[in-house]
Amino acid sequence: MSKYYLTTPLYYVNAQPHLGHTYSTIVADVIRRFRRMQGHEALMLTGTDEHGQKVERSAQAAGMDPQAFTDQVTQSFRALWDELGLQYDFFIRTTEARHAVAVQKLFHLVEKAGYIYKGSYAGPYCFFDELYVGEGQAGDPCPLCGRPTEQVTEENYFFKLSAFEQPLLKLYRDQPDFVRPESRRNEVISFVRGGLRDLSISRANLKWGIPMPTGDNHVFYVWFDALMGYMTGIGFAQGGAEEERWKRLWPADLHLVGKEILRFHAVYWPAFLMAAGLPLPRGVYAHGWLLFEQDKMSKSRGNIVSAEPIHRVMGADGLRYFLLREIVFGQDGSFSYDALVDRYNSDLANDLGNLAKRTLDMISRYFDGEIPYPSGVAARQGADQEVQDKATETIQAATATFDAFEFSRGLEAIWGLVAAVNKYLVENEPWTLADQPDERPRLATVLYTAAEALRIVSVLAAPVLPVSAGRIWRQLGLSGEVHEQLLAELKWGQLPLGGKIAKVEAVFPRLDKAATIAELRRLEQELSAAGRKPGQKPAAPAAPQGPQAPAEQARSAGQPAPPPAAAAPPLGERITIDDFAKVDMRVGQVLAAERVKGTDKLLKLTVDIGLETRTMVAGIAEAYRPESLIGRKVVIVANLQPRKLRGIESNGMIVAAVLTGSDKPVLVSVPDEVPNGSKLK
Ligand SMILES: [Zn+2]
Repeated sequence: MSKYYLTTPLYYVNAQPHLGHTYSTIVADVIRRFRRMQGHEALMLTGTDEHGQKVERSAQAAGMDPQAFTDQVTQSFRALWDELGLQYDFFIRTTEARHAVAVQKLFHLVEKAGYIYKGSYAGPYCFFDELYVGEGQAGDPCPLCGRPTEQVTEENYFFKLSAFEQPLLKLYRDQPDFVRPESRRNEVISFVRGGLRDLSISRANLKWGIPMPTGDNHVFYVWFDALMGYMTGIGFAQGGAEEERWKRLWPADLHLVGKEILRFHAVYWPAFLMAAGLPLPRGVYAHGWLLFEQDKMSKSRGNIVSAEPIHRVMGADGLRYFLLREIVFGQDGSFSYDALVDRYNSDLANDLGNLAKRTLDMISRYFDGEIPYPSGVAARQGADQEVQDKATETIQAATATFDAFEFSRGLEAIWGLVAAVNKYLVENEPWTLADQPDERPRLATVLYTAAEALRIVSVLAAPVLPVSAGRIWRQLGLSGEVHEQLLAELKWGQLPLGGKIAKVEAVFPRLDKAATIAELRRLEQELSAAGRKPGQKPAAPAAPQGPQAPAEQARSAGQPAPPPAAAAPPLGERITIDDFAKVDMRVGQVLAAERVKGTDKLLKLTVDIGLETRTMVAGIAEAYRPESLIGRKVVIVANLQPRKLRGIESNGMIVAAVLTGSDKPVLVSVPDEVPNGSKLK
């Protein structure tokens, strides 16, 4: 049995887990289960990345000591993975003592090999990203987050990353699957070809980190620290049996990461390991982002949707199926409750759920709950053979696509088989055959064929639907567990004839869409009100964000309009300065304005925001005539994801006051002397 060691990212604990983290962990769990069904000893590591400035600041904002703060957040990650049934074999926290030992060992190895030197840095620095920008001057925007940089001058330890340009390019050439998918690999190659600067791996202006063994109060840069977790968690530098396990499991077969941290994994990490003379991981796979109603969900944008309400309402399998089926792995994909419930109802409740329920119900009714004996080959019909051939083909297709991480295509293939069997049942009408005593052998063949296909579907779908595939397996009366089946041994004809099926129950009860979405939203609010922990951001409303959002939200929430004299709405939750700093608000000037055809509410505006001219769509047509706006100064939110409204891409949102008791927006006014592009803070 060959080992297969895979890792999720180590999640940064400056915020509570959100659906983006859950997505990465679910995919890793699916791969782990799939590899096990392929006969590998698949072992998975996950954990939390707990050092650095952002954590220190989040802890401060919560009035907590950083260790107590990280204890609490890491616990909520573990609790969530347990609740969702996500299986992992190792969990590493980068604040553990064993981890500091491993990081210091890496440093010694790299230093001994001559790749560390002490230098000084004077130039722009982004405190938010802990990034030495290297080019330009203080005050320029940070290339990662856009916040103004500040001037720092400090002594640092540098890693000679520049020495690894050619070795890295050779790695990508010799091992084309080191970085996947292909589009990301090309990005990494062109980044390295563009030239690598040496990397500062120490920070003197920070306390919350692993001390460097240099005796001068430096701590390690958070990425030099965090990446090592993949090795510490399985025993590196721990001696004895721990160390032996590291030797057996390392190198990792797969690092699964979000695309925003690919550079650290595909460039820095192999360079550190090459410098230290340690074996390199076999590959890194970068997945895309979940776009939630047009808003990217990642740690830099805060917490919008969490997995618990979905788990409680439809079970974790519904979420797993959606994420793997709807999102092409490696690309960005959008998430909405609407699409989630639609997928559940069509693919799970309707297609697979109905197939299981009616097949098992008929076996129960017509054959006293025993798997019927099909007719011999001579008496079988073309349609029976077609289902068998389709099943054989599907085993091959699903296994090959899952092996290549093409989960969406794999599920599509499996659901192709589900559809074929449902069609077969409709065309062969076992319920009609049941009324004709001389058709009993035909009835037996049809129900056997459907039940055998259902067994194969349950095995193939088990990595993605572990709970429900197990229930179908048990209802078929099969022994053992579905996840113990080996994919290489799966073939047509293994369903034991005459076997007794178990009690038949619906595996995927159909959901009422409106009621389900209302319940999801209610639970989301309840959780965020009750369970808000330090560092957790308030849940944003699930309504789409955009120019006309405030008025739309008030209406869609179904609140009756309060009388005009009503008090102002209650104040929102407190947020940290970092949360506020994420919103980039600028002064702009309207250059052109026109009504959007087919609506009374929307205006299309052309706005000069200093650096550039933007097109925006705003829901202010009932309050402002287009011509009255030309030349007017406005405040806009400049860093929202673009959003399409009536076919026009809106790039930003105009800030307006909302009058209590009315939908009428009132634009914020800005004195004419304020230049376009000025930032609000
Ligand atoms: Zn930055």
